[in-house]
Amino acid sequence: MEQEQKTSTCELCGARKKTSQSHGMAVCSTCRTIISNVKNHPDIVRRAWQELRDEPILPRPAQAVHTEDPDLPDVLDGKRYRTIDRDRNKWYLSISELDGRPVEVFASTAFDRDHELQSRISNLTTITRLISLILRHIFIGERLTLEKVLKQIKRSSRQKNDLPDMLYGVLSRYDSAQAEQDLRRKSA
Ligand SMILES: [Zn+2]
Repeated sequence: MEQEQKTSTCELCGARKKTSQSHGMAVCSTCRTIISNVKNHPDIVRRAWQELRDEPILPRPAQAVHTEDPDLPDVLDGKRYRTIDRDRNKWYLSISELDGRPVEVFASTAFDRDHELQSRISNLTTITRLISLILRHIFIGERLTLEKVLKQIKRSSRQKNDLPDMLYGVLSRYDSAQAEQDLRRKSA
């Protein structure tokens, strides 16, 4: 790590001071101490925060670390939007909501004059399945894993060598590598 001192603006507190690099930021000596404590002694930072500040140390969403994924109820509220695309196909876009938060999207269309119906549907399914997964991650804290992404892509495939099938083939190569990496990180 570089220790070269020069006067500039501390990236953390904004003071014009001598700064040096710490964890990819140019920071003053005060902030460097803070960074090193947050990094190496989070327990002390947390305790000091509770003593000195009358507010949670982290904003609400970050506190909600789910170890298990929340269950979705069988019946969800929803909104359905009717739209017409540039090729004049009629579409229904449905958003399922949990307490007003979007957790699933569906799209359907008649594909009136479409010759590649199957592959269009599978591409569409991939999009909506992945968006739904991301929405549940954002709004109800479902954990995102490669395994889940792969599962959704695989389920979107309708025939061999359609786009989701090909994507699944390529991406699933990373699956065991990912598992291995996780193991290594845990034992480190
Ligand atoms: Zn600073």
